[in-house]
Amino acid sequence: MKFISYFSRGEQVGVLAGDKVIPLQNNLSVKINSMLDLIENTTADLLDEIESIMVDNKITSLPVDSVKLLAPIPYPRRNVICLGKNYEEHAREIKMTKISDTGIPSAPIYFTKMASPAIAHGDDIRFSCQNTCQVDYEVELAVVIAKEGTNIKADEAEEYVWGYTIVNDVTARDLQGKHKQWYKGKSLDTFCPMGPALVHKNAIPFPVELNIQCRINGELRQNSNTGNMIFDIPYIISDLSKGMTLKPGDIICTGTPSGVGMGFEPHKFLNNGDIVECYIEGIGRLVNTVAVI
Ligand code: MG
Repeated sequence: MKFISYFSRGEQVGVLAGDKVIPLQNNLSVKINSMLDLIENTTADLLDEIESIMVDNKITSLPVDSVKLLAPIPYPRRNVICLGKNYEEHAREIKMTKISDTGIPSAPIYFTKMASPAIAHGDDIRFSCQNTCQVDYEVELAVVIAKEGTNIKADEAEEYVWGYTIVNDVTARDLQGKHKQWYKGKSLDTFCPMGPALVHKNAIPFPVELNIQCRINGELRQNSNTGNMIFDIPYIISDLSKGMTLKPGDIICTGTPSGVGMGFEPHKFLNNGDIVECYIEGIGRLVNTVAVI
């Protein structure tokens, strides 16, 4: 099942049924006011209940085109956790020594990204050239954590996954280089497009091997498969949770494949009016337009 967050007198969560959205608030035995509520209250019984309201047609649905989409988790409780250089071809294309060497990492490279809020499918990626003039795209599979866990074993990692969405880890390359540490260059306002939907893990076979692509104005720039990650999802969850508790609603961006703007010579950074389309098989398309202000 695919779930969306949308705005209708505040944040709402609904389940997608074709081109319709069925509101969950007030329609289930458990009060569900947001995606984080849904994640924290999910049981097999609740999922059965949601499936049943999708087929019984007793609840008024809304055309999905009629609602204002929000990012699936517009205000994550903690910073979005990210991996750097988790696809070998991407690690090789990174040649700006100010940011990173060209080596293949022997352990996951973790950093975080502030998303307050994460923006939705259809929202603008906005920036001023007074702050940055080298803005880049990075399509990534994002894993959303289902329940609290520490020292999770790799072979039990899937139990801790709630589902999957797409994040565009938009990055100011000049700031990434200038400040050495990546936090600032990854965390400018609007630099975390997320969505369009959060797909429950029951709809995605494990291990997760999905085609992943990014197009700029229709031109295919990134094209890989999540099966090509250097550190896979079980490894990441196991490694990250060693001595560090993961919590429901945590978001882990698993890295981007090759083809980012910085990897081209000359560089292909984002310009005003560019349309950025991030696609992951089974999840959907996250499309945002660039607005240089
Ligand atoms: Mg990234």
